[in-house]
Amino acid sequence: MQRILVTGGAGFIGSHLCKRLLDEGNEVLCLDNFSTGSRRNIRPFLAHPNFGLITHDITVPISLEVDRIYHLASPASPVRYQHQPVMTVRTNVQGSLTALDLARATGATILQASTSEIYGDPEVHPQTESYWGRVNPIGPRSCYDEGKRCAETLFFDYRRQYGIPIKVARIFNTYGPHMEADDGRVVSNFIVQALAGDDITLYGDGSQTRSFCYVADMVEGLVKLMATPESFTGPVNLGNPHEVTMRELAASIIRLTGSRSRLTFLPLPQDDPKRRCPDIALAKRELGWEPRIPFEEGLAATIAHFKKEGRD
Ligand code: NAD
Ligand code: UDP
Repeated sequence: MQRILVTGGAGFIGSHLCKRLLDEGNEVLCLDNFSTGSRRNIRPFLAHPNFGLITHDITVPISLEVDRIYHLASPASPVRYQHQPVMTVRTNVQGSLTALDLARATGATILQASTSEIYGDPEVHPQTESYWGRVNPIGPRSCYDEGKRCAETLFFDYRRQYGIPIKVARIFNTYGPHMEADDGRVVSNFIVQALAGDDITLYGDGSQTRSFCYVADMVEGLVKLMATPESFTGPVNLGNPHEVTMRELAASIIRLTGSRSRLTFLPLPQDDPKRRCPDIALAKRELGWEPRIPFEEGLAATIAHFKKEGRD
């Protein structure tokens, strides 16, 4: 039994991770300030004897005894992280310093939830970990992209300077139950619109691509990464290499929901990456991991979640 801290544990991925770690018999401390997460996501665990909730802002230092840290605290949806960009930078830079200082003080292994946004609008396709990326340092997405890039720098500098055990996961677009209906990400937007019979909002001409990983597969990848030997730090891509255009995504969701929604085209946001797809050879080799859930199966489960939420 390990004592595991999950920062951002009340969020979309964090809440699934907390459940998985509790199911494995660990003691789980969920630290969250509920800025983008939700109490509803963790309500089922509140009475669990091995679950603890710490309502706290990760930018503020904290002292705890833990064996492992999954550091997920950060807004992730472009709409949310651009709403308060200074806070986004602060959370990713100062928040990572807090988490790393805690790891240093306790000797805990710490895993960073980094992102495919490290690669920006990439010239290399699919993206490999050796690619340094093409990121605009002063655009509307920079608070997140550069915040996450600086966080990776801090992780590797804490390793170089203090020798702490680190793991860095570059997470590609992830979807599934517990996404917030109104957080502006494409899968939740399209499903909510399709279920309501509203127009589906395609940005640009809908030819841009993403590669979507079901959340259960992502949690499996994060747990496997944490279990690797200390010599393996990453960064390692975690994502599903099944690449789709946003038009194809809209068509799948319309078909699976039986919706009569129509497509409407809105301007493409500035710096929106045109193509994104992970090369997961490193994860396959070092973690023995690859996604298992087929796209339409994951979409069907996500649609069922939003239908249920609509009824509750
Ligand atoms: P989310 O917004 O659902 O969860 C983030 C959680 O962090 C929320 O519960 C939020 O309240 C909490 N949080 C934010 N700022 C905080 C602060 N200052 N102090 C304490 N808690 C704070 O997002 P998610 O999709 O679950 O993403 C989790 C992590 O994975 C993030 O670090 C994100 O950057 C990374 N990631 C996610 C995706 C994806 O597709 N979901 C892709 C790449 C990377
Ligand atoms: N997008 C869209 N309609 C929406 C929301 C998003 O066409 O209602 C597009 C967006 O422009 C991007 C892709 O879907 O090209 C993925 O957007 P999301 O915000 O989910 O995540 P990103 O990968 O851009 O961080």
